[in-house]
Amino acid sequence: MSAGLNLAQLDAVNYISGPCLVLAGAGSGKTRVITHKIQRLIEVGVEPQKIAAITFTNKAATEMRERAKSLIGKAAKNVVICTFHALGVRIMREDGAVLGLKPQFSILDADDGVSILKDCGGSTDLATARQWQWTISLWKNMGLNAEQAAAQAPDDNARVIARIMALYEERLTAYQSVDFDDLIGLPLKLLAEHEDVRAKWQKTLAHVLVDEYQDTNATQYEVLKHIVGARGCFTAVGDDDQSIYGWRGATLDNLKRLPQDFPNLKVIKLEQNYRSTSAILRAANNVIQLNPKLFPKTLFSELGEGEPVRVVDADNEEHEAERAVARIQSIRAGTTTEGAGQHREFKDFAILYRANHMARPFEQALRRAQMPYKVSGGQSFFDKAEIKDLCAWFRLWINNDDDPAFLRSVTSPKRGIGHQTLAQLGTFATQYKLSLFEALFASSLPSAVSSRAIGSLHEFGRFVNDLEHRARHTLGKEAAMAFLTEWLKDIGYEKHLYDGEDNEKVAAARWTNVLEFCDWMAGRCGGDIDDASGAQASVSKSLLEVAQTISLISTLNEREQEQNVVTLSTLHASKGLEWPHVMLVGVNEGLLPFKLGDDNEHSGLSDGPMSEGILQRLQEERRLMYVGITRAQRSLAVSWTRRRKKGRDMVAALPSRFIGEMALDKSTAKEDPREKLKALRAEFAQRAADAAAVAKP
Ligand code: ATP
Ligand code: MG
Repeated sequence: MSAGLNLAQLDAVNYISGPCLVLAGAGSGKTRVITHKIQRLIEVGVEPQKIAAITFTNKAATEMRERAKSLIGKAAKNVVICTFHALGVRIMREDGAVLGLKPQFSILDADDGVSILKDCGGSTDLATARQWQWTISLWKNMGLNAEQAAAQAPDDNARVIARIMALYEERLTAYQSVDFDDLIGLPLKLLAEHEDVRAKWQKTLAHVLVDEYQDTNATQYEVLKHIVGARGCFTAVGDDDQSIYGWRGATLDNLKRLPQDFPNLKVIKLEQNYRSTSAILRAANNVIQLNPKLFPKTLFSELGEGEPVRVVDADNEEHEAERAVARIQSIRAGTTTEGAGQHREFKDFAILYRANHMARPFEQALRRAQMPYKVSGGQSFFDKAEIKDLCAWFRLWINNDDDPAFLRSVTSPKRGIGHQTLAQLGTFATQYKLSLFEALFASSLPSAVSSRAIGSLHEFGRFVNDLEHRARHTLGKEAAMAFLTEWLKDIGYEKHLYDGEDNEKVAAARWTNVLEFCDWMAGRCGGDIDDASGAQASVSKSLLEVAQTISLISTLNEREQEQNVVTLSTLHASKGLEWPHVMLVGVNEGLLPFKLGDDNEHSGLSDGPMSEGILQRLQEERRLMYVGITRAQRSLAVSWTRRRKKGRDMVAALPSRFIGEMALDKSTAKEDPREKLKALRAEFAQRAADAAAVAKP
């Protein structure tokens, strides 16, 4: 049991009778404490289903389940390993009725939310609606409802948004829908206001473990407090220096409040970093020590000095991408000291950047060099139009009152129900305060809609009811696959895709996505894939149950980390992960730190006072840099460009202040451009050798 844990880690793992906080720097084995503690809890007799481990993303949950599986085998399936949001779904599904919510409520994604907001606020402007959504989300994360938001609004604009929020909330209630923030806010309401529900959950979960605690927000903390109760059997692990979601409402107050709210809190610090070489760790420490210290920490590594951290400069983004690819080539070929020994597979490399759009030139350069890669943190599979179409149908089965889902499914594919009919139906439904689906069968509908249209509407309604009924009773993988195949044929979805797309190749790719999606759905019904809902995954589930949790899943290919490919990722999405070789790219002023203020605001590059707001943003950007540096195990390169695109122009660019803050040894830091030539030669030599090997009989 003690294998692979140091004394402080063991301390944290063995302390199970009260609240425990592990506060430690990057790579010190915090996440490892959680997986081992799950094992320990089971050993001392806690039932696996009474243990909950909360992760920051679904992907992290999948990974943790894998790690737990290798420690404890099958029992890992029953441990609740999921995000706060997924736990929220479970609480609401079991007890949401108390708040007047059907167990089959819909979960709206951000796009649905924006459309509803446009409607409520009477605006067609996407950017404005997003701004509203953003503000409302922040309020919800602070635990404010529309009324409270209005009361504390500082200006007219905020008051307008608070009014829109009230309409938006009304609309969601009518649709029996919730948005992502509600998945935390509503469970909190339930737990706070209903003692029986709270008591039930305190009994259901005996020990709660929370990873990445520094990035929880105020409402999540309240949920945690209610679930663990006065006994406070929980383990939180986190690092205040890695708090990078302040912009989304995460708050370090949660760290500060723990010892006050739980006076018997046991605080454990871990000091040994098992991930990075000393050279990398030193650069990380140098940067982060410039932030004010909330909790003093020291970190050391026994992995040796290692290769110096390199700084790479490039003319522009394309050149930077070429140099990154050349670096991968030379490390793979073993022509650099970094490349000596192992860790030279594609999956050992990551290219990390501040913003999604920066991936483009790197993707192009990797393609040219025929290197396999994946982009994580980018567009989700579930954002593709064809997948959203199918999900709309599922949502409608689950919750007939989900009007946005109704409108999308009734028109994909089109089934002879025109816009005019839908508009008439909409007016009728509003007038009688019915959902669109309820309105279908209202006896007075013929007064509002032509008799021919009524026929089609009824047919659609009956079809949906029938599907819903059958989906409820469709259990297991094979039955689910048969059901989905037949349904797609019935609605003529393949033809719909080909009709709607001039380019056959595009249509074919869309259809492939659809099939892949169905296959994956069916797999979930078989229970052979981890379940983001946090429900027990070992039993087979009905198609209807599986459909309800879909909007919570961000990526279809959750096991993608097993593929042998180079990772391209945003810094935010890289949290908690590690790679032997990391390249931080676009480390320029204005990108990292991201544009700190208006051009005429003082950004701290020259002497003089900075405003408090800018200072705080700079500190969060610095933590992001720290997160980036500490992802690297053996080698780290940091690159910047002398010029960069701004709109259509190329403008002069500066290296990020964070490069200076790493305080590298100048004589070793700069990468030699001749490396590229050497690398190319080596790559050709290796290809020739590979070809010769293949040609051999
Ligand atoms: P982060 O702050 O980035 O989330 P972390 O503190 O969660 O990092 P882990 O990911 O748990 O750190 O561990 C970092 C690496 O060190 C992993 O590869 C892990 O397997 C390894 N590790 C952790 N503890 C030990 C140990 N006691 N002995 C050997 N290796 C360890
Ligand atoms: Mg971790």
